[in-house]
Amino acid sequence: MVGARAVRAASQSDSSRRLYDRIGEFLVDQRLDPDPGNYAFAYHLLADPEGPLARAVYALTDGGVRLTQRDIEKLGCDVQPTPNAKDAKQKADGLVAATQMQVEGFQDMVTAIRAETQGFGRDLAASAEAISRSGEADNAGVIGEVARITAGMIERVHSAEARLESATREASELRQKLEEARDNARRDPLTDLPNRRALEEAYAAQAATGAAICLAVCDVDHFKSVNDRFGHAVGDRVLKAIAEALGQTCAGHLVARYGGEEFAVLFTGVSIESARATLDAARATVATKRYRLRESDAPLGEITFSAGLAAAEAGDGLSTVFHRADRLLYAAKTAGRNCLLVG
Ligand code: GH3
Ligand code: MG
Ligand code: MG
Repeated sequence: MVGARAVRAASQSDSSRRLYDRIGEFLVDQRLDPDPGNYAFAYHLLADPEGPLARAVYALTDGGVRLTQRDIEKLGCDVQPTPNAKDAKQKADGLVAATQMQVEGFQDMVTAIRAETQGFGRDLAASAEAISRSGEADNAGVIGEVARITAGMIERVHSAEARLESATREASELRQKLEEARDNARRDPLTDLPNRRALEEAYAAQAATGAAICLAVCDVDHFKSVNDRFGHAVGDRVLKAIAEALGQTCAGHLVARYGGEEFAVLFTGVSIESARATLDAARATVATKRYRLRESDAPLGEITFSAGLAAAEAGDGLSTVFHRADRLLYAAKTAGRNCLLVG
């Protein structure tokens, strides 16, 4: 029995080892960084060699073509939607909304109780004063006792009021924290820009108003080489600088970090020509800036991005316009990069 278990455990560990080796070989063959994203991609691919991801990769690499990081991001998105992550977000959203309703209900209750206790306190104070004033000599002891009890009650009312006050304060602090948490869930921590989720919500809200919408997808050119030459931390700083340039030049429109080194700009209420001019100004700003290493002042060389810009048509969902803009972006890359194509 123990022997069988040991054999099973050994063969399990053999197959884990083989999978691990194949993941390593795949990453090396494809010249991919062993970062968690690529590792997870390789794992899903090799753990299910007959699955949809494997078939999509086979279709791309049939002629011996190497996968690019871009292919991986695309396959990662298209073949493996993440329903669990989405569900979790929806659940978290529902929870926040429910808690907010609770807090609001609690605050209403506190306000109502406070009004009641204030009235009660005023009445008690008035009757205590009247009893004290009209008291006859022989009743003085009893009346004094009643007045003392009443005064005690007033004190209790005041202390209840103070407790309610502090509960109200706590409730509103809690609400503020929930609002912050909601905001954080829609913000990219590196660049502080709205994230993909915020873009999805903003797009849906704008589309519902029937406003004119254009969407730009921007992708930093040869960004991998920035990381390779100067390290990931410098790459992060470059992303922040690009985010800032896009945010400033496209002020009034929603600039989001879509993921990795990709940004999206949601232009609303402007013509595609005006969106093009704004985005091209952002492109020129980024391309002409002289980037230097903070530590040594050494130049980083030219940093540029390419972009595709497309107008939304009535009834288009975000993914439809996004794919249109993304195809233009791809064409801009093929056309030599540092350029913007409009469709
Ligand atoms: P292309 O012009 O074709 O877009 O080339 P590229 O090198 O920009 O494209 P590729 O998709 O090969 O590489 C993108 C790189 O961006 C790889 C990935 O490690 C890097 N990257 C993605 N997110 C981040 C990040 O948050 N910080 C840093 N420093 N690098 C990131
Ligand atoms: Mg990219
Ligand atoms: Mg890129």
